Amino acid sequence: MRSLRKVLEQAQTTGVAVGHFNVADFVMLKAIFAAAQELKVPVVVGASEGERKFLGVRQIAVLVQSLRDEFDFPIFLNADHTHSLASAIEAAKAGFDSIVFDLSALPIEENIRQTKAAIETLKAINPNILVEGEIGDIGTGSEIHDTAPDLTKGLTTAEEAKQYVDATGIDILAPAVGNMHGMLQSMVQGSTKKRLDLARIAQIKEATGALITLHGASGTDDEDLRKAIAAGINIVHINTELRVAWRRGLEEGLTKQPQEVVPYKILPFAIESVKQVAISRLKLFNKLT
Ligand SMILES: [Zn+2]
Repeated sequence: MRSLRKVLEQAQTTGVAVGHFNVADFVMLKAIFAAAQELKVPVVVGASEGERKFLGVRQIAVLVQSLRDEFDFPIFLNADHTHSLASAIEAAKAGFDSIVFDLSALPIEENIRQTKAAIETLKAINPNILVEGEIGDIGTGSEIHDTAPDLTKGLTTAEEAKQYVDATGIDILAPAVGNMHGMLQSMVQGSTKKRLDLARIAQIKEATGALITLHGASGTDDEDLRKAIAAGINIVHINTELRVAWRRGLEEGLTKQPQEVVPYKILPFAIESVKQVAISRLKLFNKLT
């Protein structure tokens, strides 16, 4: 089995991006795995601190590992937005392949100092673990927001990115380049799209040469996503779009079968709904359309 690092390096070489999809339950995991299997592309499953609290840190690790082993399939597990070292250590010990160590709310010098120390601790637990660091402001909460936060002041500059990557030795960088966590109602309806700062992505890539993740990509313009991947994005995170699909599928399963109580007759609607979104995004990220 190729490691996540190898998968990312190959994506970098071939100019595609690896899809990262968050899971909050077994329905979402089944849907994402089915989508990746159907398209035969590697995939990263993410669980944030909130999602891990609900799923169980060791439980989600074992579930993903069992899929990887039984199907000999490149599915990886990321500890998304981890805000404390204790929580990062817990994920590393459970066998996560990567950790997003997110101290982006701190001043950059403090972010650098603590991230560097965290990398040392985490690599001592698992030398192959990848640590992703975050700078800039892309908002919080993969949900539907009433208003868009003003993120213009928190955009990452190429200079900051270089300083951060050089000083920390981070494996993967997550910058703020016009992306935003969550979606507005108009984005859920499809009447507006997020737009990315493509020039900024290219500048950050050139300055750092690092592997780069795009967080908060739900509701982003398709053409911007294609150009962002061409400019150097290696991982794209989708969560809110999946959550919207999960709810719609669940509602469909319940509405179509008002008397049904058997979970495995209701939940396949949610699986199918989430799977279709994952397929659509994976096709775009992997240049299969
Ligand atoms: Zn994120």
